[in-house]
Amino acid sequence: MKNTSTIIPVYQPDCQVNSWKKLLKEAVSTPASLLEAVGLAEHPIRLQLAELSEFKTRVPQPYIDKMTKGNPDDPLLRQVLSHQNETITFSGYSKNPLKEEHNAIPGLLHKYKGRVLLILASACAVNCRYCFRRHFPYQDSLASGAQLENALSYIAKSPSISEVILSGGDPLMVSDSRLFEVIAKLEDIPHLKRLRFHTRLPVVIPQRITQALVDRLNHSRLKISLVLHINHANEIDSLLSEYLALFASSKITLLNQSVLLKGVNDSLDSLQELSEKLFENKVLPYYLHLLDKVIGAAHFEVNTNVAVKLIEELQKRLPGYLVPKLAREEPGRASKTVIA
Ligand SMILES: *Cc1c(COP(=O)(O)O)cnc(C)c1O
Ligand code: SF4
Repeated sequence: MKNTSTIIPVYQPDCQVNSWKKLLKEAVSTPASLLEAVGLAEHPIRLQLAELSEFKTRVPQPYIDKMTKGNPDDPLLRQVLSHQNETITFSGYSKNPLKEEHNAIPGLLHKYKGRVLLILASACAVNCRYCFRRHFPYQDSLASGAQLENALSYIAKSPSISEVILSGGDPLMVSDSRLFEVIAKLEDIPHLKRLRFHTRLPVVIPQRITQALVDRLNHSRLKISLVLHINHANEIDSLLSEYLALFASSKITLLNQSVLLKGVNDSLDSLQELSEKLFENKVLPYYLHLLDKVIGAAHFEVNTNVAVKLIEELQKRLPGYLVPKLAREEPGRASKTVIA
């Protein structure tokens, strides 16, 4: 006899969608509550906090889950806990170190040949304290509505552009349905070959990698790559691994870009562990960026000579394909500058 009471698990995409949006909405939003969440509410570190109104605390719970509780030096906590140092202005640091201009076409940044940056979202799911875009007026430079149409027609009229890079803010802040609309419009531009996402969202909310998203990207006529922004091996926990595995049988290329950050990943062991863990998850290291000198981030700076030495030592320990390119952005150049 058939047992009619058996519950068959049904795949419900809506559950997943609601779950990432809910996690985003419930993100921790003050330094004090962040300290409490990691068991440091009474720690002297609380006296060094500074909440900045222009760049508020924002940390989703899945990211907090990866931190070691009770450790004020945790490399993940350090990336997101605001500190009094952010209010000090050091020489050589400015509000807009890359001299990114308001573009003629809002939402589009065409600095390098053959590829353009299209900015779909003004915010990120996390506010990283070292971020070079903390002072950037995103709200005015977003490709939405009529501005998106303008940006798309610029791309359509520029046959030299073969790759569109969705950046931000974080492009995955946009809902799947809206993202799919934009992808469809890009697919209609015949000279485009590649579509790239630069995102940190899956690192802080792995649930953002919905099955619908993976399927849509996998069925695009464009060659798609996802450049994740992972800075430390501890950011790749079993939950993120599980979600990254959804890409395993897809045609999508997974790459990673990190920023070299003092007290976070500025050691040989830490960089080696990161590269190895990335590869275990089918992600290849791409760039290791030197910090952009933005006001408020000076306490993360790693000296260039130290950085070069780290890369040289890393080359001795790892196969070439697991050593990221050490790069820096310099205003007015035709590409990023590779240093080692
Ligand atoms: C980094 C960047 C790119 C992409 O450069 P790649 O070397 O291809 O990764 C494109 N446009 C802008 C404005 C950038 O900052
Ligand atoms: S995810 Fe990237 S762009 Fe967003 S705050 Fe962090 S470093 Fe900045």
